[in-house]
Amino acid sequence: MNELTADVVVAGAGPTGLMLANELALAGVDVQVLERMHERTGLSKALNLQPRTAEVLDLRGLLGRAEQRSFATVSDGHFAVIPVSYTGWDTRHPYQVGIPQAQVEAALEERLAEQGVKVLRGHELTAFEQDAAGVTVTAGDVRIRARYLAGCDGGRSAVRKALGLPFEGIEGRGHGVSADILFRTTPPGAPTEWRSMGNMVTSHSPGKFVGLIPLGEPNLYRLSYGDRLNRPEDLRAEVPAEEVRAAVRERFGEEVEIKEIRWVSRFSDDSRLAAKYRVGRVFLAGDAAHVHFPAGGQGLNLGVQDALNLGWKLAADVRGRAPEGLLDSYEQERRTVASGVLQNVAAQNALIPLTPDQLALRALFRDLTALPEVQHKLSGMVSGLDIAYASPESHPAAGARLPDFPLGNGFASDLFHSGKFVLLTKTPAPAPHPEVVVAEVPELPWPDLTQALIRPDGYIASTTGSVAGWLV
Ligand SMILES: Cc1cc2nc3c(=O)[nH]c(=O)nc-3n(C[C@H](O)[C@H](O)[C@H](O)COP(=O)(O)OP(=O)(O)OC[C@H]3O[C@@H](n4cnc5c(N)ncnc54)[C@H](O)[C@@H]3O)c2cc1C
Repeated sequence: MNELTADVVVAGAGPTGLMLANELALAGVDVQVLERMHERTGLSKALNLQPRTAEVLDLRGLLGRAEQRSFATVSDGHFAVIPVSYTGWDTRHPYQVGIPQAQVEAALEERLAEQGVKVLRGHELTAFEQDAAGVTVTAGDVRIRARYLAGCDGGRSAVRKALGLPFEGIEGRGHGVSADILFRTTPPGAPTEWRSMGNMVTSHSPGKFVGLIPLGEPNLYRLSYGDRLNRPEDLRAEVPAEEVRAAVRERFGEEVEIKEIRWVSRFSDDSRLAAKYRVGRVFLAGDAAHVHFPAGGQGLNLGVQDALNLGWKLAADVRGRAPEGLLDSYEQERRTVASGVLQNVAAQNALIPLTPDQLALRALFRDLTALPEVQHKLSGMVSGLDIAYASPESHPAAGARLPDFPLGNGFASDLFHSGKFVLLTKTPAPAPHPEVVVAEVPELPWPDLTQALIRPDGYIASTTGSVAGWLV
């Protein structure tokens, strides 16, 4: 048995675990990442970065790396496959980045390697024990003693199960299937570029949906279809190629021929949320903490932002800078956000109509989305741009996200590349704490403020610039 030590063990090298490990490494925390797979699967699963995820990657100088690997820029989002525009939001990134999940993982793992952290592949976490001083984690031939463990090990999380945490929510009745398909010729009416959710081929028949997204290579498409009322007995069983072919024939006719099914996966429409995100020295993040139907394209985005929230808080604790309660604020903030996503996913599922009156309701809902206020509300939900955390301060900016703005030769977001707190001040001011970067600005997005202390994840910590309650 190889005995190792670390400040933090991250179990799982999906997007959540890789983002968290990057955050910890950036703060100088000694992190070990365990991944049960010997190689990255290369499966595309998620296809998008929502605007808030683009913003948080930009805070770390990672967005360009992701965009280099992207295959599309999509001008809007969707709610139950009804396009919703992001343009009412004050953001430099009012679009979705079309990028396969595997490419997001590749970009994050590349950056992690540059920070000197290598993922321990082929190492499945099988057991852990915690005591007052730390956690001992066993994975294959390795035993690691660490101060904290973060379970980023996906929807079937071994960490969550070992903690005995209830995973509560809505038991769906249906299922969905996603497949990356190479057609011999372009399916009738299918776009060759993914520019808007409005030009996707979609259709609904009672309780069923089918959609196609072009993946940036000639005749390569993501096919998604599903049924709200029926699911096979074994959701994990291989999806028969004939089932995929039948779904294509039913929607596009006999003449559309499939050349290759590159990848296919079946998923449930269950929605579940872990009862707690923290038990002692063990945390959950990403799909380990929440799962839901991929409506609106939110799961990966939620996980990456969980990681960003947890990362700086864990790092502050490890470095002896965290005030009491900071680590607990991770669950308070991020479980609330996930609960909201589960709600909006349930609402989207309800908009897959089963009956003529529900069809009428969907048509009415679609009409309502033409109203700018409705667009704003829905796009805020799916994009993550509406996230604001609770704050004891009364100013409306407290807890809100900092909209990016031009500063010097760049942007305010550049100040966050080091992962530290940032004090934005209109008048010269000394650093209130060694962990705070100070930047003089001609204006703040809220004209009545003279100073604002911004958290490493880009939310307003204090509208007076005080570090009290944030750093010791
Ligand atoms: C078909 C489909 C389409 C989707 N589309 C979208 C979309 O368009 N937009 C979106 O935002 N989201 C989408 N999602 C959701 C998205 O894929 C997930 O939310 C995302 O993968 C969660 O990332 P994660 O890192 O938390 O978990 P995972 O990606 O599941 O990663 C967990 C990692 O942990 C590893 N692991 C598991 N157990 C152990 C263990 N015991 N020890 C060590 N390692 C372990 C696994 O091998 C894996 O690498 C989709 C999902 C599916 C299935």
